[in-house]
Amino acid sequence: MTHTTLTENPAKSFDPQHFDNYVMHTYGRFPIAIDRGEGCRLWDTKGKEYLDFVAGIATCTLGHGHPALVKTVSEQIQSLHHVSNLYYIPQQGELAQWMIEHSCADKVFFCNSGAEANEAAIKLIRKYSHTVLDFLEQPVILTAKASFHGRTLATITATGQPKYQQDFEPLMPGFAYVPYNDIKAIEHAIADIDEGNRRVAAIMLEPLQGEGGVRPGEIEYFLRLRKICDENNILLVFDEVQVGVGRSGKLWGYENLGVEPDVLTSAKGLAGGIPIGAMMCKEFCNVLTPGTHASTFGGNPLACAAALTVLKTIEEENILQNVQARGEQLRTRLRAIAQKDPTLFTDVRGWGLINGLEINEEMSITSIDIVKAAMEEGLLLAPAGPKVLRFVPPLIVTEEEINQAADLLETAINKVCAATVN
Ligand SMILES: *Cc1c(COP(=O)(O)O)cnc(C)c1O
Repeated sequence: MTHTTLTENPAKSFDPQHFDNYVMHTYGRFPIAIDRGEGCRLWDTKGKEYLDFVAGIATCTLGHGHPALVKTVSEQIQSLHHVSNLYYIPQQGELAQWMIEHSCADKVFFCNSGAEANEAAIKLIRKYSHTVLDFLEQPVILTAKASFHGRTLATITATGQPKYQQDFEPLMPGFAYVPYNDIKAIEHAIADIDEGNRRVAAIMLEPLQGEGGVRPGEIEYFLRLRKICDENNILLVFDEVQVGVGRSGKLWGYENLGVEPDVLTSAKGLAGGIPIGAMMCKEFCNVLTPGTHASTFGGNPLACAAALTVLKTIEEENILQNVQARGEQLRTRLRAIAQKDPTLFTDVRGWGLINGLEINEEMSITSIDIVKAAMEEGLLLAPAGPKVLRFVPPLIVTEEEINQAADLLETAINKVCAATVN
């Protein structure tokens, strides 16, 4: 592998202090810089090797340097990478066809991120409300507490966690929140909000809450929810930005719940780490017409070719089977770890290769403590809130790598416990 250089390779002379002089401090970064990757392995600028169970936050579906993705992206950037949506983009059409043929949706709009995909969904909901449902003025979107939908103004408002909204008020009007997996709360909210020209137009949920603590949706809840939406003319919208594209062990998260959404958003893993977002919907609510929504970069040839390769590779290499088997293996190992220390760990949960290990609320140890210790041992993990460790490796992770990660995690936990007792 040859490395692209700027004036000199910036990774070689990397200095965090220098970096912080110029880049806004909007992230609590760990003090390492990653230089190189291959499969599920990463190396930092000092040459230390890591097993990657973060995958760019559930994004590098095929791991790092996957030959199929390298080939597609190299070839596409040589022939054409961007032209705008002023013209037809054949790669976009091909990707759309694949996604439609492999999902419950009929049409797709492309953008560049999860937040943008959700923004598109929110605009679609509002336009559908005004033009089809004929609401007088005020459609309300119900979302869940502990949800995460992105960082734009509309999507922090949709996100049912005050910490993301604080200091950014006034928030967007037209949102209300309910506890997740609680059907009574939905029924009450629909009744409470139904008043004059104000009523619930859509319910937007993650099939499994990712950032909010790796909390899977309950089948019974979602079956009831689908029925309630049908009976009340309410759109059911699934944010599959994190759980979609094979991560749950099925291609789409909704397949785990036995219901189909009317609108569906995707982003993180869709192009394996090349930026892309997508909002998909059924034909009956396909109301966005020319001039009503757009994105300069959305669905460019590079991103679409990458996504098509990711999806075809998932299909051709039976990756969903690997996700199911490796997920089962990981949860078995995590349960064994949790059972060894039941006062420290309270739950193991997840689908496919999105899994969480929950730390007891009462204990002083936090997810960050274990993430840091695991990093020392050479395992990268991400927290999902202060008390949940999140495991989202590339979907190509091997049996051996799962075992190795679990071994490294055990060592890290033992060290954290030893340090805490002293
Ligand atoms: C990450 C995430 C988003 C936001 O995606 P961005 O690409 O960071 O804008 C939205 N919804 C869910 C469920 C996510 O996990």
